[in-house]
Amino acid sequence: MPPLPQALRQSARRGRWTPERMSRLAAELPKVETHLHLDGSLSPETVLRLARSTPDSPLRGLSVEEIRRQVVVDQPRASLAAVLEAFHAFYPLLRSAQALELSAYELMRDCARQNILHAEVRFAPWLQRAEGFAMDAALDAVLRGLERGGRDFGVGSGVILCLLRPFAAVDREANEAMTALAVDYAGRGVVGLDVADAGPGNQALADYGTWLRRGRAAGLGLTAHAGESPRGGEIEDALDIGVDRIGHGIILRERPDLLKELVRRGVVVEVNPTSNLRTGAVSSYREHPARAWKDAGLKMTLSTDDPGVFGIDLAHEYEALSREAGFTAEELLDMTWDGIWALFLPETRRAALAARFELAASAALD
Ligand SMILES: [Zn+2]
Repeated sequence: MPPLPQALRQSARRGRWTPERMSRLAAELPKVETHLHLDGSLSPETVLRLARSTPDSPLRGLSVEEIRRQVVVDQPRASLAAVLEAFHAFYPLLRSAQALELSAYELMRDCARQNILHAEVRFAPWLQRAEGFAMDAALDAVLRGLERGGRDFGVGSGVILCLLRPFAAVDREANEAMTALAVDYAGRGVVGLDVADAGPGNQALADYGTWLRRGRAAGLGLTAHAGESPRGGEIEDALDIGVDRIGHGIILRERPDLLKELVRRGVVVEVNPTSNLRTGAVSSYREHPARAWKDAGLKMTLSTDDPGVFGIDLAHEYEALSREAGFTAEELLDMTWDGIWALFLPETRRAALAARFELAASAALD
């Protein structure tokens, strides 16, 4: 990973960063999303649009405000499981090609509005399939929406497929099938494999190693939700498997030995501060371990996780770290830069993206 271009670093250091100026930088800075769930990204407006085209949806007669109250988690909840409940309200709407294509298309529009240059969008096609609607049709629909939205709004994208824990909620057969699908689409829109939670349970991450390694052999990037809530052994398992990135990693605040190992190996942590607040993993932005991680030299990217469900955008996350956790303009630039180099992208496309970032960031710093 090359260092942040010196000219950008200098102008970030030179700037007078009042809170208003920081807030403008958060909005105007070109950004990338590395940890973004398609199902968690739907705005209440998109949910309403989907509900109105679904004849038997209980949501179709509601107003946007009423939908917002059902699907947006704007206050901390007791656990990750309690947050996942918010998804139940709109999930039945997401099981058709039309709905998935529209969601992916509108996500690209929302990314462009936030100056996001490239987004890696993740989902588990197993959860989207329905009678007569197979996983590959679900994936095709998402890829169509991303491609069309990318063209219309100038945003690059790649898809990460999520294997799911625990087997009690989503069995081995499902995970096997999703791995095969990811391998089949490697280089044709799918860029990575992830392991995410589909419900409460304590399946070891190590049980997903065979599938992740199969993805790696097909050229896919690897990431995994690990250390998000206090379950032991997840980061160790992720390191054993050889992931490139880790989602959340909150448990690292109690494990300086593992933090050191991540720094040594150059493993990147996808940081999602508001998500961690709403699931109760951290008690405030100020207490988010990202501050200590930055000081320890950990490579990090900043993402939203579920912007629709949390009612936030990526600029909000940049601003929160700056306002509450003392991140400087230079440090925010570093995180975006690290994000660009952590994307699962062929090197030629990465170089083009880095050049685009340099130009747009220089204008945002002016
Ligand atoms: Zn996530």
